[in-house]
Amino acid sequence: MTFKPRKLMLGWAERVINRARTPLPLKELAWRLIRLVQMCGRSNLVSFALRPLAMHRRLQTGLGMALAVLVVFGAVWDPLPSAASDTGGMMELVVMPEGEVSLVTDESVQVPLEDYRMTQKFWFLHAGLDMATLTGAPIRPVMAGRVIKAERDAGYGNHVIVEHNGGYESLYAHMSKIGVSVDQQVSMDTILGEVGSTGHSTGPHLHLEIREGGKLVNPGAILGI
Ligand SMILES: [Zn+2]
Repeated sequence: MTFKPRKLMLGWAERVINRARTPLPLKELAWRLIRLVQMCGRSNLVSFALRPLAMHRRLQTGLGMALAVLVVFGAVWDPLPSAASDTGGMMELVVMPEGEVSLVTDESVQVPLEDYRMTQKFWFLHAGLDMATLTGAPIRPVMAGRVIKAERDAGYGNHVIVEHNGGYESLYAHMSKIGVSVDQQVSMDTILGEVGSTGHSTGPHLHLEIREGGKLVNPGAILGI
């Protein structure tokens, strides 16, 4: 029997991502695995590095080959804190490598919260940033603009979308209270609403998305955080 770690890993990762009930941390592991395998590309560094470990007799018999692969990737995987994040599944999938953000604007930008803890970054299965803080903390827009949506739905909960110059839109989700209405002009000092945990959320946090020309981009790259 030949051991093909690349094929095995990709197959496993795809199954994990495609399964609806997979817990978010496992999906993240699977996604990182795919990225790592893709990063190594044709040089097949991963398979080269993994072969001696996975073929090690003790590991092979003691844990099984699949687990040996998991152990190796467990070591390079730093889990993100799971508190105060989206419950997953409802949010839009993003297939865009990080860093492909071209911000050509003279507008000044700001981080929408004064104090926060980043609980989930922008990645394959997460369309924005999760910034955890206390319920009721004021949320300000990333740039001045005009409110184009202020409503409640099942996934985002109470949320507001602001349209900005340069084809940008920003979305603020899971608010406890909405403080603006559609068509309202907002400055960087306007309070859009208050942090909450409405919609698919496990604790008080702001889920922030930014679109450029309708395409999701990494808010972290725009805000420099
Ligand atoms: Zn989120």
